[in-house]
Amino acid sequence: TKSTRPQRLLKAVQKHATRGDPQSVISAIDHFCRHSEWAMNVGDEKGCILDSVVSELNPEKVLELGTYCGYSTVRIARLLPPGARLITLEFNADYAAIARQVIAWAGLEDKVQLVEGASGDWIPRMKEHFGIETFDFVFLDHWKDRYLPDTKLMEDCGLLRKGTVLLADNVICPGVPDYLEYVRNSLSYKSCYFKSHLEYTKAEDGLEKSVFLG
Ligand code: SAM
Ligand code: MG
Repeated sequence: TKSTRPQRLLKAVQKHATRGDPQSVISAIDHFCRHSEWAMNVGDEKGCILDSVVSELNPEKVLELGTYCGYSTVRIARLLPPGARLITLEFNADYAAIARQVIAWAGLEDKVQLVEGASGDWIPRMKEHFGIETFDFVFLDHWKDRYLPDTKLMEDCGLLRKGTVLLADNVICPGVPDYLEYVRNSLSYKSCYFKSHLEYTKAEDGLEKSVFLG
């Protein structure tokens, strides 16, 4: 049977990236997606904005919603300080299996906990199951109709503290109008838009950074 795109992406990593070198993993995936097959990674252009937000925050507890093949997981984890932890949620078992291998190839498995399952099921269990008090940084990049309900769920579960930063991908393309209207108008957030382009294309897209004010 024909291979899947994530399997071909993993092959490109194994062929072109150096074990233990996250930057080479990122470059191999970007090259594959620009020249062979488009894939829904945050990509190199928005990835630079993601990098600068992570570097500025230096977060110790990070949550990622939507792992896919682990591209953004590697991007974020490579910038984390020693002892920091990234929990990434993925409900597709085939994608999770690929992501585990990509993360291991980058040598980042000690920093990353890949959890298989739906965000709506796992967010309420973060405290009891992982001993998380609050997250410093949350990257939202799963299905777009879940951004708003999962944000409210994180609030209700007490996972956000004053100063927690939410960074949401694809706020223009495909777009998350209900989420944008919420974070931009709520007095509980200070929110701003970083204009960029949809991964590996020239179409406008961007990231919304929203600081929770408590
Ligand atoms: N963040 C990844 C990157 O930039 O490399 C891309 C993530 S991709 C756009 C979205 C992923 O979220 C898909 O793999 C999908 O299976 C997963 N997903 C969607 N809704 C989810 C949910 N409610 N819980 C867990 N995973 C979800
Ligand atoms: Mg995205």
